[in-house]
Amino acid sequence: MRISEILKTKSTISFEVFPPKNKSGDLSSIYNTIKGLAELNPDFISVTYGAGGSTKGKTVDIASHIKKEYGIESVAHLTCISSSKEDVKNMCEELIQGGVENILALRGDRPVEEEFDESQMELKYASELNDYINEQFPNTFCLSGACYPEVHSEAECFEEDLKALKAKVDAGAEYLVSQVFFDNNYFYRLVKEARKIGITVPILAGIMPIMNSKSLLRTSKMCGCSIPYQLSTMIESYYHYPSAMKEIGINYATNQIVDLITNGVDGIHVYTMNKPEIAKAIFDSIPTVLKEWNHE
Ligand code: FAD
Repeated sequence: MRISEILKTKSTISFEVFPPKNKSGDLSSIYNTIKGLAELNPDFISVTYGAGGSTKGKTVDIASHIKKEYGIESVAHLTCISSSKEDVKNMCEELIQGGVENILALRGDRPVEEEFDESQMELKYASELNDYINEQFPNTFCLSGACYPEVHSEAECFEEDLKALKAKVDAGAEYLVSQVFFDNNYFYRLVKEARKIGITVPILAGIMPIMNSKSLLRTSKMCGCSIPYQLSTMIESYYHYPSAMKEIGINYATNQIVDLITNGVDGIHVYTMNKPEIAKAIFDSIPTVLKEWNHE
């Protein structure tokens, strides 16, 4: 089923997982993760695509497994920065064979270590990737795109980033998933301004429960999201207490989610970091809020 069809009937709860980084190709650890997440009855689970397509085959296998083994809709991420049109076409064909109908179409991050020759890119932006997939596979996939509450790092300003977002939606993104943020006000600003320029598709909020100070700093640097004073103070105070850090991360994410639901968010997308127990702790702590939101 297309995620856009689910979103017509309800606000969604979804999870993101990433393929294991082992060289052996063993997927048993991620399949255990998915088993744990499936018990939480999400509307869909998305599977990332390693930088430069490094986890290509695994992404297809995992997304297909989610759908076939649990009957849960899956979304395969697909990036075009290091892929030719032919690569994209092949990946789409594999997804069709694997029964996956949903793609989060992304440009992907510029490789940092190596020299990157942009002129080699056959598809420059996510919007071009959308156009290409829809041209090659008409009416086959439900496409979605990424959005950035605190502005994408390469964009000149918020307004330019918003224009690019509109182009991505006009090229076929049927819903959007946000980058991580720790201050809900950035998300509310994005939704408000997006609606003003005619972006009407559902916008799902990306929430990442922070488990330690290292991961908080890494996420903030990688994703360009700011750390609110209140969160940084709590993290500094409990720096040496891993279990307290975990409690703070779960509580902070839970509070963000309750606030988002209260403010009518279209969906919550949890970056699970392959830890089902953390997602469980969050959702187990707000059963009544979820029930009122049509998620039991
Ligand atoms: P685009 O939408 O193409 O935008 C990239 C930049 O170009 C932006 O600054 C934008 O403002 C600008 N731009 C876009 N169109 C135009 C235009 N027509 N003219 C001028 N400027 C334009 N990365 C991975 O490698 N694998 C993943 O699985 C993955 N999953 C992600 C999931 C989510 C929910 C999010 C938010 C990000 C994910 N990323 C992933 C990271 C993503 O690939 C990077 O943030 C990347 O730098 C941008 O991708 P994009 O699709 O948003 O790019």
